[in-house]
Amino acid sequence: MSKFVSTTPQGVAGKAMLVAALSTACTAWLSHQLPRPGAEISLHASDEIPDRAARESVTTPAAAAPVFVGPPVPAFRVASAEVTQNFAATADQLGVGAAVAARLARALSGQLDVEHDLKPGSEMRLVFRNGAASAARAFTGAAPAAGLAAQGAAAGSAAQDEPPVAVRISTGQDAHDVFLYRKLDGKAFYYSADGQPASPTFLRYPVDYTRISSDFAPERLDPVTHRWAPHEGVDFAAPVGTPVHATAQGTVTFVGWQTGYGRVIQIKNFGDFSTTFAHLSRFAKALRVGSEIRQGQVIGYVGRTGWATGPHLHYEVHVDNVPQDPLTVDLPTRTALNGEDMAHFAQQVQKLTPML
Ligand SMILES: [Zn+2]
Repeated sequence: MSKFVSTTPQGVAGKAMLVAALSTACTAWLSHQLPRPGAEISLHASDEIPDRAARESVTTPAAAAPVFVGPPVPAFRVASAEVTQNFAATADQLGVGAAVAARLARALSGQLDVEHDLKPGSEMRLVFRNGAASAARAFTGAAPAAGLAAQGAAAGSAAQDEPPVAVRISTGQDAHDVFLYRKLDGKAFYYSADGQPASPTFLRYPVDYTRISSDFAPERLDPVTHRWAPHEGVDFAAPVGTPVHATAQGTVTFVGWQTGYGRVIQIKNFGDFSTTFAHLSRFAKALRVGSEIRQGQVIGYVGRTGWATGPHLHYEVHVDNVPQDPLTVDLPTRTALNGEDMAHFAQQVQKLTPML
């Protein structure tokens, strides 16, 4: 009897040591032996670098506490629904809160207009990471089967502020995907599968190879009118004929002549942004009020029309109709992923795409 009592604790301790010695990856492997019906399981639950995760698990083999190897928690859960009314209603049905829904609409706005391009029959499909909060739910058996909207909504209801890590909107002809990625040095943003920022961005400069000849200023002595007036933009000195690029996607609201500005283009960009390009020598062909403009598109050419002492582009950025300094105003100027970030992002896309 005494022999029996002495060996049992040793046995338990030995088992605990063994489990504690297993790496995170091994724990996931054990879980993988017991797949839940309908759940898609991945060994990597986060968008952290797999290398780092592996390194951490290797360097912490002697964790004191025994690891509980319970029922497996799928790393991701999938929720999907057919669009019957509109984007907002579908997002709500999938348990996505209003703030996250607005963020998704913005993220998708580079590819489609969720207000107009979604028709009944379109499908919204979301992949969420199963974090600590949803893990508890999964243990209660509430893990959703892939593709079942009702279960997706149930699982999502407690995580309305949680942004999905992958999103697909299928409109019948096209599928539009965006993926959430946290850069090594920053906040998480949505990107398209090729690593381009998903939501529209701004270029800081509308012309190449130039110098600034006059800054944005609340008051300055106008070199032409010789009166004190605010300079509501910035002047880029450049030779006549230098191409002028749209700094962000948008719609032309004015193209023509205005006193002072000379030949001028005004563009309503996304959000609260609008931009003005003045003193142009000529406009790009076929530019009309209502023309849809891509970022970087050549819209006109530098000139010295209107009140200009020499050839330059006068460029304004308005936020909510208030002129701001184009050189310092807070603009969404994110660039495409590259280097190590792009490599990690590509792995993540490869892992998540089969779930979409
Ligand atoms: Zn100016």
